[in-house]
Amino acid sequence: MNTDRFVVIGRIRTMVSPGGRADWMLVVGGEIASLGEGPVPPELSDAPVLDLGSGTVLPALHDAHVHLLSSGLTEMTVDVSRAQTMDDVFAIMADAARSFEGTILRAHSFDPDLLPEGRYPTALELDAISTEFPIYVRRRDGHSSIASTSALAFLDVPLDAPGVELEGGSPTGVLRAEAHARAATRSGELLTDEERVRAYHLAARRAASRGVGIVHSLVGATDPGDRDRDVELLLGVSGELAVDVVVYPQTLDVDRVVALGLPRIGGCILLDGSFSSGTAALDEPYADGRGRGSLYYSDDELTGFFRKAHGRGLQIAVHAIGGRAISQAIRCHAAACGTEAGEARHRVEHCELPTSSHLSEMRRLGISACVQPTFEHLWGGPGGMYERRLGADRMRRSNPFRTMLASGVRLAGGSDSYVTPLDSLLGIHSAVNRPNPSEQLSVFDAVSLFTSGAAWFSFDEKKRGTLEVGKEASFVVLGDDPFEVAPSSIESIDATALYLRGRIVDAGADA
Ligand SMILES: [Zn+2]
Repeated sequence: MNTDRFVVIGRIRTMVSPGGRADWMLVVGGEIASLGEGPVPPELSDAPVLDLGSGTVLPALHDAHVHLLSSGLTEMTVDVSRAQTMDDVFAIMADAARSFEGTILRAHSFDPDLLPEGRYPTALELDAISTEFPIYVRRRDGHSSIASTSALAFLDVPLDAPGVELEGGSPTGVLRAEAHARAATRSGELLTDEERVRAYHLAARRAASRGVGIVHSLVGATDPGDRDRDVELLLGVSGELAVDVVVYPQTLDVDRVVALGLPRIGGCILLDGSFSSGTAALDEPYADGRGRGSLYYSDDELTGFFRKAHGRGLQIAVHAIGGRAISQAIRCHAAACGTEAGEARHRVEHCELPTSSHLSEMRRLGISACVQPTFEHLWGGPGGMYERRLGADRMRRSNPFRTMLASGVRLAGGSDSYVTPLDSLLGIHSAVNRPNPSEQLSVFDAVSLFTSGAAWFSFDEKKRGTLEVGKEASFVVLGDDPFEVAPSSIESIDATALYLRGRIVDAGADA
């Protein structure tokens, strides 16, 4: 429906309250002019009708944590996420190699934690797929990778760089830490601006296809493969993308962000690493003998950055997964801005292993958390990666969504795409079906993470996040109602259409 004034009829979930419903909604000039229950009032009988039948309407879904460039690149490189065994990995890559015509064959989403072999491929195994071109495989968490023999040279990784795994003096192909960062950065540098813009378009259309109308896009040089000037590149094309983009420049350069006129800074500014790579900073050692992880910044560095960014009026987002990193984020925020953190809506990304004292401090200071429920879907529960890395007790305490909400900490939901699919319905599904039942969210709270919660994070709560008079007519049409279907089938609900400000979004056309 592309007229300026029309009436939507359907199962409208306003998301103002758990039972908030409407049967019709009048859209005028991209905004909601009125809505109500029961039949459409007679005075609106002249307005064109968008009758959605049994379709369910929710506010446009809103993903508060997306690495948009890498997310789009996953659509341009080989996806090995569906492999069930190492043989599957090799078969998928051999298949891609047969028709490959580029300089380096890249694959993504390799996840040994989901394979029975539980190991990485070797450089020799990648060489066996093809020696005609270098082959480079990224681990799903983005914190390590594997290079074929020729890829090591092609990506300029010196064999004595820290993080090159050696066996009997020869590289196995596995790259971690600095060696991984160099290879990933070099791999990214080979991309042209046209390829980057295409990646942004692909990611935006993928989002639209799942009803996600707004993404917080974390972009900039702290992601391997992103460059400093990708922030400007994205700002330049953001108006042409299928969905709305809220740009989070990943940099410590406060002056540059102020000069760009942006009101926010950060994203995955890494205070620590990840559980899967054994690099998140824990209070107690990992259960599988990997030490405690480490903090990547000193308190002085972080407090100085917070003080400067906060002083210039910027909202700040930093990545902290383990308890020690969360402690550091809280401690440095308290030193830099005290309880003023709340007005600035400073955010901690992931915040996966908070204690109750962390949560009460976060509430007191007004620090909010952007969580990734799909992590639990992939890695939570008995026998999963969290249990192997953290042990059964800490596994049960990871991502305590219900406890976090109950303690008054503001939450938003994010996919961390490329790490998990850019799919808020999967995120909602994962929060409702979280392996530990005592931390599962109601459907209302789970949808709120990806609607009103995320809108608050980007200071958009007056125009987005719920369907109310005066707000944008930005909504998704779903084939089924997540409040009504069995919780186990929320992830397979279709997003049949997405509207932003009253206009339907075309998720199909090629860039
Ligand atoms: Zn992160």
